[in-house]
Amino acid sequence: MLSQQELIKRFLDIRIWKRGDKRAPHKPLLILFMLGRVQRKEPRLVTYAEVMEPLQWLLDDFGPPRRSSPEYPFYHLAGDGIWEFSFTGAHSIVGSPSARFLLDNNATGGFGADVYAALIDNPSLLRTIAFRILNEHFPPSMHSEILLAAGLNLDAVEVETGAASASRLRDRKFRERVLVAYSFKCAVCGFNVWLGRVPVALEAAHIKWHQAGGPDQEDNGLLLCIMHHKLFDRGAFSIDHNLQVMVSDRAHGGEGFEQWLANFDGRRILLPDRPQYRPGDNYIDWHLREVFRGQGKYAAG
Ligand SMILES: [Zn+2]
Repeated sequence: MLSQQELIKRFLDIRIWKRGDKRAPHKPLLILFMLGRVQRKEPRLVTYAEVMEPLQWLLDDFGPPRRSSPEYPFYHLAGDGIWEFSFTGAHSIVGSPSARFLLDNNATGGFGADVYAALIDNPSLLRTIAFRILNEHFPPSMHSEILLAAGLNLDAVEVETGAASASRLRDRKFRERVLVAYSFKCAVCGFNVWLGRVPVALEAAHIKWHQAGGPDQEDNGLLLCIMHHKLFDRGAFSIDHNLQVMVSDRAHGGEGFEQWLANFDGRRILLPDRPQYRPGDNYIDWHLREVFRGQGKYAAG
């Protein structure tokens, strides 16, 4: 019988393809999608043909701007002790199977029987694992949208571990330093509201995500109102090396689009007083490469 600790550890220890600091959210997104299925008590195993399209959407919406392949995690997750993979036919697999191979050979995957049973038995364990996976791979501003897209419901998740409170303390200190560096104003729109002595709805964004190894330093921070923080983490806009706002040509909309995004395109952000706190070029590069969607109208030089 699998203990809760052992199960959580297996999920957190999944091996992630690494090349420098490139994002590879394939396995985390497949896991979240499948946890949603378990939560709805859907069958344990699923064919590749069934998950291909929803997984591609998740990768397109929440993965890096380059094209990501859903066949990769469907096969490779089997090496991590939580996933089962099988196919019909007498072939053997060398390297990574193609999507065509998975479809032609009726490939099937899903959590192992012991893992599935433990998750079905214990809904709060399922929520804890989903929450930890999210935290490990995505900034908090994206969590609710990923959950919605994966069909997962994490209401009533109570995870009060040492690691969680240590990271909250770390976040608070970072936020305080970035608030001061940017004089308590959103770097894009200047938003600044106080309730008594407390600034409201202002957040310190990491330019290079904490989840990708971005440091808690002022030159990797941007003070943004909650709206611009969300739009920035989703890659609806970035900043170029002249520190001008660059809105993605893929962002569009009606009410609010002009007001929150288009109006700022090409405008310089409000800079911190101290030059050493200005956004670092290497962090901007990472955001342009790994997060920013599409092209800017003022293409970065
Ligand atoms: Zn703002």
